[in-house]
Amino acid sequence: MSKQAAFYSQLQQTLSTLQQEGLFKPERVIASRQGSEVTGSDGRMLINMCANNYLGLSGQEWVAQAAIAATEKYGYGLSSVRFICGTQTVHKELEQAISAFLGTEDTILYAAAFDANGGVFEPLFDENDAIISDALNHASIIDGIRLCKAARFRYAHNDMADLEKQLQAAEGKRHKIIVTDGVFSMDGTIAQLDKIVELAEKYGALTMIDECHASGFMGKTGRGTHEHHNVVGKIDIITGTLGKALGGAMGGFTSGRKEVIEMLRQKSRPYLFSNTLAPSIAGASLEVLKRLSSSTELRDRLHENTAYFRKEIERIGFTIKPGTHPVVPVMLFDAQVAQKFAARMYELGVLLSGFFYPVVPMGQARVRVQLSAAHTREQLDTVLKAFEQAGHELGLLKK
Ligand SMILES: *Cc1c(COP(=O)(O)O)cnc(C)c1O
Repeated sequence: MSKQAAFYSQLQQTLSTLQQEGLFKPERVIASRQGSEVTGSDGRMLINMCANNYLGLSGQEWVAQAAIAATEKYGYGLSSVRFICGTQTVHKELEQAISAFLGTEDTILYAAAFDANGGVFEPLFDENDAIISDALNHASIIDGIRLCKAARFRYAHNDMADLEKQLQAAEGKRHKIIVTDGVFSMDGTIAQLDKIVELAEKYGALTMIDECHASGFMGKTGRGTHEHHNVVGKIDIITGTLGKALGGAMGGFTSGRKEVIEMLRQKSRPYLFSNTLAPSIAGASLEVLKRLSSSTELRDRLHENTAYFRKEIERIGFTIKPGTHPVVPVMLFDAQVAQKFAARMYELGVLLSGFFYPVVPMGQARVRVQLSAAHTREQLDTVLKAFEQAGHELGLLKK
């Protein structure tokens, strides 16, 4: 076998191992707009319970129209990075709108939150500094920290006693920053930002939160986890996505003090060396923020749907991870059961995703439900009935 052929053969082997171990990720093909109900490529109608479409905006006509209007005015794209000739008025307006929404001074846009997290640490921290990171932080935070020379400290997930220990271990470093997902997407766990801010103040550390599963709907007016925990103005750096609740297309941002944002504009590599956000996305995101700032209707509906689903699924007899977030992990514990369950739900017309080891700890297999403001009560009742039926068929329910 030639050296080149050996490379391809090794890839084939690895791929078939993934398949045998049930870790291969097939892609579901949707033939319609994203929404609470979608059409599969086979023409089947499915109630969608696995999108990050928390506010139901992804397939919304008025959002699509706002993107069209921005395209008409600003064109399709800029063929430039921001600092050469890729900044339009709509990008500046969006940055201001995000800052106003989050209660920060300034904001910088990226092509994705992955880039925002990937490009935030290296320009701001070096070997004299310390980054103290939750063990379950998102992959993009982990990668961003890897690209930076700062000393790394990891605290056990959501464990404030361990965070304090790590802050003590980092004592003597010039700058320290605590980094956490605002909400962790696997369990819907909300970071204890009130306690984190307290510890940060005690040890002279900065704070950063990734708000991808929070911006737009957490907190009384949907500003995010910092509003939920009443620490608006006390978080140094906020990263987030335009690709989930805030419209669902793509794009990300970093928000904070103006010196931070100014430095990122000068030095952040995914910003300097990657094309500007499409004007259609900037224009539509701006419309979305306007609506969310003038009414909490979508956010309120999302939380009503979440409370209803959480109560009803427990009444049927399923075990869920307790909480209030629209991510609802329905625990099935066994990997094979979770796979069978998700497959049966698909046959019953419900799209959801099963998770098992190594994505979640051994013995913690589950299906994850994500609620949306777009779900009607009728759709939720259909989904709950399907849960009940599949639960009885697989012998998971007592009654
Ligand atoms: C989805 C997600 C990201 C990445 O967001 P994109 O804009 O899709 O790149 C980053 N962090 C967290 C916590 C996420 O859930």
